[in-house]
This record gives sequence, C-alpha cells and structure tokens, in this order.
Amino acid sequence: RLIREMKRNAEWALKLQRDALVAVFEEMEDPYLRTRKDDVDHVVNRIQRNLMNQEQLKHEVPDSHLNGYIVLADNLSPADTVMMQHHGIVAFATEYGGPTSHSAILARSLGIPSIVGLHRARRYIRDEDLIIVDGNSGVIIVEPDETSLAHYRGVQKEEKRFLARLSKTKDDQAITQDGIEVELHANIELPTDIAAVKKVGATGIGLYRTEFLYMNRDTSPDEEEHYETYTAMLKSLRGIPVTIRTLDLGGDKQSDEAVHPQNHEETNPALGLRGIRLCLKETSLFLPQLRAIIRASAHGPIKTMVPMVASYNEMQQVKVMIRRIQEDFTRQGIKFDPDMPLGTMIEVPAAALCADIFAQRLDFLSIGTNDLIQYTMAIDRINDEVNYLYDPLNRGVLRLIRMTLEAGAANDTPVSMCGEMAGDLYLVRFLLGLGLRRFSVHPASLLEVKDIINRSHIGKIKRLTNKAMKVPTRAGLEDIISQMNAM
Ligand code: PEP
Ligand code: MG
Repeated sequence: RLIREMKRNAEWALKLQRDALVAVFEEMEDPYLRTRKDDVDHVVNRIQRNLMNQEQLKHEVPDSHLNGYIVLADNLSPADTVMMQHHGIVAFATEYGGPTSHSAILARSLGIPSIVGLHRARRYIRDEDLIIVDGNSGVIIVEPDETSLAHYRGVQKEEKRFLARLSKTKDDQAITQDGIEVELHANIELPTDIAAVKKVGATGIGLYRTEFLYMNRDTSPDEEEHYETYTAMLKSLRGIPVTIRTLDLGGDKQSDEAVHPQNHEETNPALGLRGIRLCLKETSLFLPQLRAIIRASAHGPIKTMVPMVASYNEMQQVKVMIRRIQEDFTRQGIKFDPDMPLGTMIEVPAAALCADIFAQRLDFLSIGTNDLIQYTMAIDRINDEVNYLYDPLNRGVLRLIRMTLEAGAANDTPVSMCGEMAGDLYLVRFLLGLGLRRFSVHPASLLEVKDIINRSHIGKIKRLTNKAMKVPTRAGLEDIISQMNAM
C-alpha cells in the first residue's frame, strides 16, 4: 500500500513499516517481548540488503549466537540446513517434511540430530526451553528431568564408544563370509565432507551431490570455480574415485533466484524442471559444470552421473554435449580423460523399466531409491502427510530394483545404489540377496553397513531372498527379512 498509494520506493516503504512495527514492540511492558524487535530488524535488514542488491553480510554466515541451540521450525529448506554448521546449531526439528527430504539427508551428512514431521511441536515448546532431540527414535523431550538427562548422556557416551569400536574396521575390506567382494562407497553433499569419507575409509565417493554448490549465494558458480572445487577434491582424495553427479536443482532443492533467474514457482516442483531437465533447458547453468568436470578428469579418477533421467534421449543429448566439449578441448590442447565413465541415476520408474537400454549404452547405473520410491508410489518425498506410503519394501519398488540389477548383470554394467535405502541397516542383507554389490551410503552409516556385509553369507541369503520376492503378504516379506538378519 505504501508503494502503490503513497508512492514510496520499496526500501523506504520497508523502513516506514519497520518503524511502525518496532514502535509497537517498544511499547510492550514485558522486557523479553520488547527485545523481540531485534527479530523484526534482523528480517528487515536482510530484505533491505536484498532490495539494494548488497552482498550478504559476514555475520549472516558464521554466527555464534545460535551456538549450542536446537532449532524448531515449520520447515527448513536444504539451503537453510547447510547453514546450520556455521551457526553451531546442534539439532533441529520441523513440523513438516519427510525423512528422505534433502534437508534430512543433509542433517545426517552434517551429523546434526533431527526429527521431521513433528506436527504441532511448536504448540508445546517455547523459546529457551531445554530439550532433548532423540533423532534415532524420533522423540523430543521438553524440560527433561534429571533422570532423562542422565539417561541420554549415557546414550551419547555409549554411541561414542560404539563408533570408536567400529572405526577400527575402517581399513578392512568389505567382503562377505563366502568371499564375495562388495564395493562400499560414500555419499557427500559438500567438499568438506571428504574428511568424514576418509575417517571411515570409504574406497570411493559414489555420489557427490553438486547442487549444493549453487545454494546460499548470489551468482552461479562459473567453470573455474567448478574446476577448482573438483581438482581440490581429487587432490585431497589421493586416487579415491569420485562420482560427480551433475546438478540436480529443482524439486525441493532450490537455489536463490539470482543463481537461476528463470526460476519460477511450479505447481508441482517434484514433477517439474528438475535435474537433467533443467540442465538441458538452461545450458548456461549446465555447460560450465560439464566443461569443468571434463577438464578435472585429467587430474584423477572421475565418473560423471546424470540425475532425474526419464528417457535415454536425455543421455544422448548429454553425450553430444560431452563430445563437443572434448572436441573443443582437443583443438585447444586442453587435457582430459577421454574414457571418463558416464552413467545415469535410475530414479524415475520409466528409466528402471528400460534399465536394459541404459545398461547397454552407458558405463554404469546407480539406483536413486529416494526418488525411485517417490515416483513409483506417486508421493512427494517431502510431504509428511503421505509419508506412510514411502515404502522401500513395496513390491513395485522392489521389482524395479531387481529389474535394474538384472539389466546391469546381463550387460556387464555395474549397478550401484546410492539412495538412503542402501544405508538402511535392516535391508543390507536383503539387497545383497537381490544382487546388489555396490553400495554408496552416508559416511555416518558406512562402517555399520560394512559390519553387516562382513558377517553375511550371500549363498544363504539368496535362497531366502527368492522366497521373499514371491511371498504374497507384506508381513511374510518382513518375516523373511528378519530371518535373514538373524542368521
Ligand atoms: C535418490 O534419489 O535416491 C538420490 C540419491 O538422489 P537425491 O536424494 O539427491 O534426489
Ligand atoms: Mg534423486
């Protein structure tokens, strides 16, 4: 109204409205409420800087006033979640969101305990309450008594001891009791996650989610920045291979508008312009990354993996782009690895159904169960209302996984799994039985997965897996998996 009727510019209008709001707070008697005017100022200043196109202030990145705090929010975007490490936030809970949302995945990666989909939590919890977040069981305890505090301190200590025990196996090979070698790679979101990768002795990075390079910033990364990021990673990894997934923006992973100006609200973002669809449309976002990956391939073992592929035609277009870049580099005398493997994620049901077509023409496949489940079950993975349908053991999902593994085996094309399902300790043996030999999991669960693999006998599991795929009821299926896990 101030802009339209009083002809103020946006910054001035914001200032006037800020003053009006702050005046209300200043009138308040309660000293605590009075100081809440700081929150108004915080938001106003941030909008003001955006309006005036000013750079992000330093204090917006690393800020210590939240150090040791637990954040409770309606929802958090992946971009918000990434910032938590800089603020020293120790845990968070959200009222909405699903456990395989990218915010939840990031939280695991950052080692931040979290709970999502905790409806009405904010009705019962107030600022400054002391709370315990038990991310393992999805429980929040508000104002715990001494007994609960002592119990959870014990749990924390026990967990540390358990992890210390496991860390002794970091250099052990992943190999089953009947001598079958399994490849155990790690998923990362940020280059800084490499420390965690080394700590658990992963033999490769099976999924590097590069879209986080595009978040919390005003400009999109250029070719040089990509190149420097990837070569620095290779240097630090010292020969450990890395699978760089090309950017998968869209869906619940949105960048700032400045990075992708055509970015507009979609009615159904999970089914919209995401991953390779966006990359093929906005080649100015995609080409710098692709060129940098190809250049970086001269410095160490890199594989390129493309997300959200629905039809082989999309991979054909990527292949043409790669070929052109390589021809360009050859002309200019720029070095690259001409044999850099190219693969695709199998995460759209149409791709799983045609896995043979992909397996015949590509160097590797990787099953992205987070999306494969979402798209097979026709649910949005961040919508907690339908999260009960998010089921890795649904027969439709299992059949698509098996089809993909069989297509890989028939064509001698390696198939890995890099969705959260691969790191689900309850399902490791079942996946081994289905034929999975390449797991890419979060570093935090890698050693536990290895422990299970090294205690498994595939010959024995296989018989039960075949039975499980035929059993008519869901209860029967779970029963067989439990038998398998008890062996
Ligand atoms: C997946 O979909 O399983 C996957 C690994 O990719 P993301 O979680 O980033 O969508
Ligand atoms: Mg995915």
